[in-house]
Amino acid sequence: MTEKRVALVTGGSRGIGAAIVKQLAKDGLHVVAMARNVDKLAEVVAAVTADGGTAEPLACDIADGKALAAAIEGIADKHGRLDVLVNNAGITKDGLILRMDDSDFDDVINTNLKSAFVAIRTAARSIMRSKTGRIVNISSVSGVAGNAGQANYAASKAGLIGLSKSVAKELAGKGVTCNVVAPGFITTDMTDVLNDKIKDTVKQVIPLRRFGEAKEIAAAVSFLASEGASYITGQVLVVDGGMVM
Ligand code: NDP
Repeated sequence: MTEKRVALVTGGSRGIGAAIVKQLAKDGLHVVAMARNVDKLAEVVAAVTADGGTAEPLACDIADGKALAAAIEGIADKHGRLDVLVNNAGITKDGLILRMDDSDFDDVINTNLKSAFVAIRTAARSIMRSKTGRIVNISSVSGVAGNAGQANYAASKAGLIGLSKSVAKELAGKGVTCNVVAPGFITTDMTDVLNDKIKDTVKQVIPLRRFGEAKEIAAAVSFLASEGASYITGQVLVVDGGMVM
C-alpha cells in the first residue's frame, strides 16, 4: 500500500485543477491527475516532480461513466488506498435559455454533475477506509447565485451542492467529510474567452477588484482536504473576492 495519502484530482491538466494537483503534492500527498489531454497532464506531473512531490497522470474522459469508474477502481487497486477525491473537471456551454438545446444542457450536466456522482459512488468504499477521507467538489458562484446565460452550468453547479450535502450526511458516520469550494472569476482558459469589456465590468462588482488566481482556489481545497479540517462537512466555501455575499 502506498504510504502517502493518495488523492485523485479530476481536470488536473490545467487551470484550477493543475494548481490543486501541485498544492496537494506540496502538502505531501501522492496525486493522481486525471484529464483527457495526456501531454498537458505530463507537464503538470513533471512540475510536481521538479518540486520534490509525487504525482501520476491518468487519462480519462469523465463524461464516460464506465471509463471513469474503471479508472478509479484502478487507482484503489494500484495504491491500496484513496484518501482524497477532488471533483474539479468542468465545462461550460453557455447560452440564453430560449436558445439552449437539449444537448448543451445534457453535456454540461453529464460532465459537471453526473461525473461527480459516479466518482463519489466508486471511490466511497476506499475513502471510507481512510482515517482522513475527504471529498471536495468544485462548484461555482453561478451555482450559488445563478447566472443569466448559464442555466445548464448553474444547474450542474447547484446540483453539486445538493449532492455534497447529501454525501456529507451519508458518509459522516465513517469520518469522511464532503465539502464544496465555489470559485468566483478565476484566471484560467475558461475565463480567458471573455472579452476585456466583460472582464472590466465583472471587476467592478468584485470587492477585491480583481480576478482570482488558480492557486487561491487550490489553497482552499488544500485546507478542506487536510487532517485539520476534520470537523467541517457539508459546507460551501465561496472563494470569489467578495462578489457573492
Ligand atoms: P479549464 O477549462 O481551464 O480546465 C478544465 C479542466 O477540466 C481541464 O483540466 C480539462 O482537461 C478537464 N476536463 C474537461 N472536460 C473533461 C472531460 N470530459 N474529461 C476529463 N477531464 C475534463 O477550467 P478551470 O480550471 O477554470 O475550472 C476548473 C473547475 O472550476 C471547473 O469545474 C469550473 O466549472 C470551476 N470554476 C471555474 C471558474 C473560473 O473562473 N475559472 C469559476 C467557477 C468555477 P482536458 O481538456 O485535458 O480533458
